[in-house]
Amino acid sequence: MKINKKPWPLSTAYKLRDRIDTNPDYQRPAVWTKSQKQLLIESILREYDIPKLYWREVSVKPDKYEVVDGQQRLRAIWEFMDGSYALPKDLDPIDGHEVAGKTYSDLDSDMIILFDQYCLDVAVLTDTEEEEVREMFLRLQNGTTLKAQEKRNARPGKMRDFVCELAKHPFFAAVNFDNTRFTYDHIAAQMCCLSLSKEICNIKDRDLNSMYENNKDFDAQSSGAKRVQRILNYLHAVFPRKTPELKRYNVISLFLLIKTLIDDYALSGREDDICKWFIDFEGRRAADKKKDAEDQDSKLVVYHEKTAHSTDAFDSLEFRNRFLIEDLFAHVPDIAQKDGRRDFDESQRIVIYRRDGGKCQLCGVECDWNNWHADHKVAWSKGGKTSVENGQVLCPKCNLSKGGN
Ligand SMILES: [Zn+2]
Repeated sequence: MKINKKPWPLSTAYKLRDRIDTNPDYQRPAVWTKSQKQLLIESILREYDIPKLYWREVSVKPDKYEVVDGQQRLRAIWEFMDGSYALPKDLDPIDGHEVAGKTYSDLDSDMIILFDQYCLDVAVLTDTEEEEVREMFLRLQNGTTLKAQEKRNARPGKMRDFVCELAKHPFFAAVNFDNTRFTYDHIAAQMCCLSLSKEICNIKDRDLNSMYENNKDFDAQSSGAKRVQRILNYLHAVFPRKTPELKRYNVISLFLLIKTLIDDYALSGREDDICKWFIDFEGRRAADKKKDAEDQDSKLVVYHEKTAHSTDAFDSLEFRNRFLIEDLFAHVPDIAQKDGRRDFDESQRIVIYRRDGGKCQLCGVECDWNNWHADHKVAWSKGGKTSVENGQVLCPKCNLSKGGN
């Protein structure tokens, strides 16, 4: 993260307002009262110093910014210049100029010039990751504001309880960020939100809030609950140890990737391959970032941008998921699709039974037609086909001790 300090005249900050986002995800909603706004404008007209603002550069050419700290001040200034409110009627003259009850355009031209030329002290953050900015925002707020997840954790309900338990899942021991201010609970809530929705969806604070609200009676034994756990269990098997590449946005992307594939693809037994692929992917991405701009892979550049801001939004999640799945299949091409049908049909069963002479293919015992199991030689969960070639006769005892099918 780099910080460049520069003065911004108010006239410039006003002209460029379309490029300044005062409401990124981690921000509080505007809560300033009219008198707080008026006090700020008066301070500017008296040429008092106002505290530094922090903006984060989110793109260049055209330059665009997110306001990390100072959004209320900025909005108060814009609204004043728009004429949305006037100065207090009882305000004393400033430097001999009458200002009481005046809007921006009512001010003397001297005062307007002074106002327009007043410079905001802005620290522009460049080359930042979203989690660094979130952390910085919290520090700038001195930890006094309640973070959204802290608010959700403070609200009773079955969904809260389920998410709190999920945040203790051993998978979280592998991630490369800590659990300050319920970060794991926040991510666990995002996982639930993605898992309960059929399609990819936004997982911003307001989406999580409504999920908590609509699932106060959430059943921790429901199929939806089991599904989240199943995906997390799988991720834990992929990343059994501390993995430095598991940054916050990656964890959500990987969860989504496994969610997308787990039903239709034979992932069982492929944990190591997926772990190696992901570490390799992050290595390729880091190497590409070090190259000169013109030598970088344009697709990776776009991917990188999508990991840098609004990572909780549908667009970013969807793009990253598609990108990662393409990359996974390009580098681990033999991930098999599961056979859509798991059970052998009657005619397949007859062919298998006759071919194997009605004998268990493991222990050789003769099996009665009414008492044998049609077994997948290559397990169905590992991509084995439900076909005569992949079927065999097993006695119930052997089939049960084989485990899995
Ligand atoms: Zn047997």
